[in-house]
Amino acid sequence: MTRYAFIGLGNMGLPMVKNLLGADHQVQVFDLDAGSVEAASRLGATGSKTLSEAVMGTDAVITMLPAGPHVRSVYQQLFELVDDKTLLLDCSTVDIDTSLWCHEESRKLGLRFVDAPVSGGISGAEQATLAFMIGGQAEHVEQARTYVEPMAGKTFAAGGPTTGTAAKIANNLMVHINLLANSEGSQLAARLGLDPKVFHDIVSASSGRSWAQQVWYPVPNILETSASNRNFDAVFRADLSYKDLGLALDAAEQHSLHMPATELVHTQMADLRAEGYGHKDCTLIAKYVDPDGNLEGYTPEPA
Ligand code: NAD
Repeated sequence: MTRYAFIGLGNMGLPMVKNLLGADHQVQVFDLDAGSVEAASRLGATGSKTLSEAVMGTDAVITMLPAGPHVRSVYQQLFELVDDKTLLLDCSTVDIDTSLWCHEESRKLGLRFVDAPVSGGISGAEQATLAFMIGGQAEHVEQARTYVEPMAGKTFAAGGPTTGTAAKIANNLMVHINLLANSEGSQLAARLGLDPKVFHDIVSASSGRSWAQQVWYPVPNILETSASNRNFDAVFRADLSYKDLGLALDAAEQHSLHMPATELVHTQMADLRAEGYGHKDCTLIAKYVDPDGNLEGYTPEPA
């Protein structure tokens, strides 16, 4: 049995904790939101009122926090609280600089840290099928693979420090550009008179096939997993898409790369947010194909 601390019990963190508990591990949890700590306690975790209480005596600390600033704030404290007996794993999606800072500060203090972001979304967290991409010193990465196994479908040794984060950022820009392709292709096909289901079947067997087309397709009554069946209530929030695409654009700028497709889909996520739809699903960008913003499966909500 492993003793884990789990920090950040949101949409992803809570089901991940459930899977650790389901594999008979002990999990000590902390979140700024007391209600989330209570929810995890009801699942069998040990609730903590402070970060220091949560990490006491643990083999591994997992953080699953919104973004870079939250991660830096928590690790600033963690560095004073743990020693080299505890492996630190950050599973949040953050910028490369934050990930590098965590690695460098850990190394200076003689601590073990890996960046270990995940792909697979809330359903992957619930079903313990997340893909973990882990970066760090090879021996720490191997240790981390064992610790994340109860939550994972697949684990990858991505390479040295920050490579897990780099893989996550690059992967997420790819799925979002694919989403843009699905947004435009699906609407054009409908306007050209194709039956939506027939067209989706054709693409599934043709060169337009992609993960976004198989899971996120923004047309109702074709895929059970599509947010379009539920008035675009979020499977993956536009806010998160905007954040992830911004991380990619920042990294591109640092390396003088030109990524106009990423910029375009980032702008559409910014537009959704500006309209007050940051909480809706990212696939709602499909409404921008029609100049009037009309989209099959979407009824605008009163402001
Ligand atoms: P969330 O906003 O639902 O949960 C984040 C939790 O962190 C909240 O409960 C919040 O109270 C807590 N928190 C914030 N600051 C804290 C602090 N200083 N100390 C303790 N707790 C703190 O977010 P989420 O959807 O669970 O995502 C978590 C991370 O996983 C993000 O980086 C996200 O980009 C990434 N991610 C999300 C998904 C997804 O589908 N939601 C998929 C893959 C990766």
